[in-house]
Amino acid sequence: MPATPSTLCRAVPRRPGRPQALLLWAVCLWLGCSAATASAAEYEQADLDPDNDRVVGPPGPLAGCEDKLKRAGIAFRAASLPLKMARARGAQIIACGAEQVVSYRGGPAKIRYSSWPTLTCRMALALARWEQLLQEQAARELGQRVVRLSHGGTYNCRKMVRFDFVSEHSYANAIDIREVWLADGRRLSVARHFGALSAPAQTPEARFLRSAAERAFDERLFSVVLTPYWDRLHHDHFHLDLARYHVDGSRPQPAAH
Ligand SMILES: [Zn+2]
Repeated sequence: MPATPSTLCRAVPRRPGRPQALLLWAVCLWLGCSAATASAAEYEQADLDPDNDRVVGPPGPLAGCEDKLKRAGIAFRAASLPLKMARARGAQIIACGAEQVVSYRGGPAKIRYSSWPTLTCRMALALARWEQLLQEQAARELGQRVVRLSHGGTYNCRKMVRFDFVSEHSYANAIDIREVWLADGRRLSVARHFGALSAPAQTPEARFLRSAAERAFDERLFSVVLTPYWDRLHHDHFHLDLARYHVDGSRPQPAAH
């Protein structure tokens, strides 16, 4: 089915708009739930502006990027990706590349990677936060630590496979996660351990993987979280990105698409 961001977004539960967010913030102040707001401030939350829910475009640079990475305990090297321009609807747009990318070497959760991902600054911050969340879920569900992630790439100058618009991979604003390696030597793969889609999680490994994906979306680390629930193309990996629109593919989908 040909699709646009708007058709993608129809499948997505709407996030609270600004008035609700302000109300939540005020209630938080009143109740003193400062831990939640403090942790939210340590990473850059996914784009919450509902006006952007139909926008596809390269991520803007983040002010004070390097300081924020350092404060978050992230090891990185400077990197660059050339911008490739294209003409669309009479205007010049960035088709590939990004203004602000880093080679991500690791975060405070001490997880290694199959290769160092090249990512936008915002993605680097979000990934470090997700690593901490992975450790929490691994401890809770498996009594283990995560030591390594096997990924399938971040930057790839292309359109989406199923939809006729630019993939966030074109901006190094996405990562595909295939395997999670544990301290006891086990390697959990999305393909083998996510479990049957027709049933709730039957194993601790499936609970771990599913909860890690759900929290990635619910806590707004990423605006797009695609898992095997989303479609066959994602049967063997999680796609995590920071597009300006939101897609929750971490749960069973309400309708076939
Ligand atoms: Zn992907």
